[in-house]
Amino acid sequence: MARYIERTKYDWWSTTWKLAVFILLIVFAVAVILPSRGWVWTSVMVLLSLWLYVRLMTRRTAYKCADCGNVFQVSTAVNFFTTSSMGKNADGTYFSAKKLTCPKCGKVTKARVLKRADAQAAKGSGRLLK
Ligand SMILES: [Zn+2]
Repeated sequence: MARYIERTKYDWWSTTWKLAVFILLIVFAVAVILPSRGWVWTSVMVLLSLWLYVRLMTRRTAYKCADCGNVFQVSTAVNFFTTSSMGKNADGTYFSAKKLTCPKCGKVTKARVLKRADAQAAKGSGRLLK
């Protein structure tokens, strides 16, 4: 089982640039593709950008069940069709979460978003989870 750490400020930055690329692709679609190829190709381009964005995010994240603590990953499709939300920690800080069904206990919980631990993350200050 891969190890995952809690999201840090570094992750917010990595989320931001992915979002920036995504927005740039949308702007490109509307500004360049729309006048020459019309709405159909623009929609395809926008959907592809959105899918790419979700895929990039999915590959690097895992979710922790709020009920049993099980850590699991979801497919790009699941991530694409579910919405993210925010949760509040006991110490007053916030965390990002997603309403997901846990594959272990089967309960629908506000699953906490975790980042897959990699070489880059090991340098950070995130707490490692078993
Ligand atoms: Zn569970």
